[in-house]
Amino acid sequence: APLIAICGRPNVGKSTLFNRLTGSRRSIVGDEPGITRDRIYGEIEWAGRDVRVVDTGGVVPDDEALIPSEIFRQAQVALGEADAIVMVVDGRTELVAPDIELARLLLRGGKPVFLAVNKMDSVELLAGAENFRSLGFRNVLPVSAEHGTGVGDLLDEVFSALPVETVAEEPTEVMLTAEDEMEEDEDGPAPVRKLRTHGEYEQAETKIAIIGRPNVGKSTLLNALTGTKRAIVSPIAGTTRDAVDEVVERSGHSFRFVDTAGIRRKGKTKLMAEKLSVIMARKHLEAADVSLLLIDAVEGVTALDANIGGYAHESGRSVIIVVNKWDAVTTGRTDGKAPADKKVYEEQVRDALKYLDYAPLLFISAAEGKGVDQVFKKVELVARERRKRVSTGQMNRFLERVDFQRASVPMSKRVKIYYMTQAAVAPPTFVLFTDKDVKLHFSFERFLANQIRDSFGFIGSPIWFKVRARN
Ligand code: GDP
Repeated sequence: APLIAICGRPNVGKSTLFNRLTGSRRSIVGDEPGITRDRIYGEIEWAGRDVRVVDTGGVVPDDEALIPSEIFRQAQVALGEADAIVMVVDGRTELVAPDIELARLLLRGGKPVFLAVNKMDSVELLAGAENFRSLGFRNVLPVSAEHGTGVGDLLDEVFSALPVETVAEEPTEVMLTAEDEMEEDEDGPAPVRKLRTHGEYEQAETKIAIIGRPNVGKSTLLNALTGTKRAIVSPIAGTTRDAVDEVVERSGHSFRFVDTAGIRRKGKTKLMAEKLSVIMARKHLEAADVSLLLIDAVEGVTALDANIGGYAHESGRSVIIVVNKWDAVTTGRTDGKAPADKKVYEEQVRDALKYLDYAPLLFISAAEGKGVDQVFKKVELVARERRKRVSTGQMNRFLERVDFQRASVPMSKRVKIYYMTQAAVAPPTFVLFTDKDVKLHFSFERFLANQIRDSFGFIGSPIWFKVRARN
């Protein structure tokens, strides 16, 4: 059944609303180690439909300092599990920072969200609900959880946003990690299965940017990839006429190559062509999820390649390094300039593109159509990896395992991480709750990213961090 999450800072009346909705039919399940808090689930029937409700607040500690982290945790739960989210505010008090922060997180999550302005116990107070529109919610509903007024209207609204078909009851294998499955075993048969909604893991379509300096083989690769399998050629509404995407459908996944006219465009002079390739790369990255950074195998990584690679890295898009024209290397058409040993070659590329250490690397020959299959497979893999979500429970267990002594960071630059949580996907973004409000030291960030990759993968995607000092 679809799941509605109720969020809000302490004392706004979440539990009262939850009890009002579910009556006595509540069950306590789940107990996240680390920050131990119960999640309370219940069921309601409304307009002939069964829906589950989760009170993300659970048992709130009496500690002001913990509220910001609590807010994050709630948003994480709601955005991870729920089909619709109701945020509750206290209609009789001014908005405070945690309200605003929670609203910001929830509104960014892309799920149906509703603002319940609570404690509107009398008609006089009702009009006051409008003041809370400043939070940015389109759906603002005054309620009195205590008296039950407005609750029916709220439910009508929320129910209209729920999916008619529930999301996949059985997550497919790629959606559950081994650790998730273990978790379920430990907890015994949980009454509420941890579902991941669509979109978090699965994206029907992956947008791909083919980038690289002139003559690395972008057009040739595009032709090889789209070739006879080309299904649709469609301009995206609102873009210029020559921005044409080509879409290839393959084993249930659709691959959209963005702005293919741009990929084919050539500059008149060498300098113009080079400048254009950078401009195009940036434009294409903007529109993409995954980028294919082409390198000419004969020439190796040049300064311009590194420049374009840098933009790819900073864009937050996933990157696959594609060494093209490998045929020319293996047939010795390079005067022995380039090593024909893939391992040696890869080392050289990695050395020149250090910041892209997370990017898978492929050797292909676009002209001969060799390795094209691999490209599709890798794109699918990295597209999935960048949307992966790690639960706060998993994250906390991970933190306990990490040996921070091994990070080569000067003492003065060290921060203590109380805990961390994944705040976003695509690219995976982690919020660290720390003792100091500092920008993370470069090598510390690298160390932590590598540790995260060792445990959770995130193949091909950069990992972003945000620091929140907890005081
Ligand atoms: P773009 O400017 O990056 O779009 O590059 P093109 O696709 O126009 O290719 C530039 C040149 O490299 C052309 O002469 C292609 O035939 C050649 N080329 C592309 N891919 C390969 C390859 O896999 N092997 C070899 N030997 N040549 C290639």
